[in-house]
Amino acid sequence: MAGQDYGRIYRDRRYEMVEQLKRYGITNTRVLEAFLSVERHLFFDPENREHAYDDCAFPIGCGQTISQPYTVAYMTSMLVERCPSGTVLEIGTGSGYQAAILDFMGYSVYTVERIPELFRRSLGVFKALGLKIHQHLGDGTLGWKDEAPFNGIIVTAGAPDPPPTLLEQLADNGVMIIPIGGSTGQQMTVITRNGNTLQQEAFHSFAFVPLIGREGWMDG
Ligand code: SAH
Repeated sequence: MAGQDYGRIYRDRRYEMVEQLKRYGITNTRVLEAFLSVERHLFFDPENREHAYDDCAFPIGCGQTISQPYTVAYMTSMLVERCPSGTVLEIGTGSGYQAAILDFMGYSVYTVERIPELFRRSLGVFKALGLKIHQHLGDGTLGWKDEAPFNGIIVTAGAPDPPPTLLEQLADNGVMIIPIGGSTGQQMTVITRNGNTLQQEAFHSFAFVPLIGREGWMDG
């Protein structure tokens, strides 16, 4: 509508979103600050921007979704509490929002997407925002060998098991956050590496789109 101050409206809605996240139990100030600052609506197509701050997942095309704000905040909190800085590999760029949150928090971000259309779309968004996020088009279950190892790995699609190649690309004292389970629900799982020892701990349940690839679910 003409005359509306959208910058202000969206800022107010981000503030409300952060208040909601606090009520849900998100307390990390770096995470809350990132959610307040990163303009989530810019990761939505213009016709869907009014839904950008709704408290739910939302379709981004190609059968994929941008995760609910709480889910992104939960995963990001799990990461930052165990791996406060360094390089992070994200599997499943999707809209690019999670990657932008990590970039805002000061991580050096590498992100992999398997669907060319989503890869190109996020490339455009990062460019428009001037974000220096490293992007790769391909099967993220195979990680990003040339840039490994990573201090953190965050998988934003549901996996049947932790992909062995990703575990190999986890640095010493590194942490992987990955939803593991079947097609209807997965448990958020934290895997930490200490030398050759891997420790795995499962947390709350979520419902993600499937991680499709050589070391994930089969396509189709
Ligand atoms: N992090 C995203 C959430 C996207 S949903 C965001 O902030 O919007 C999960 C994404 O994982 C989808 O875009 C899907 O295409 C992608 N994906 C699924 N399997 C993958 C794989 N093996 N490699 C890379 N991306 C994958």
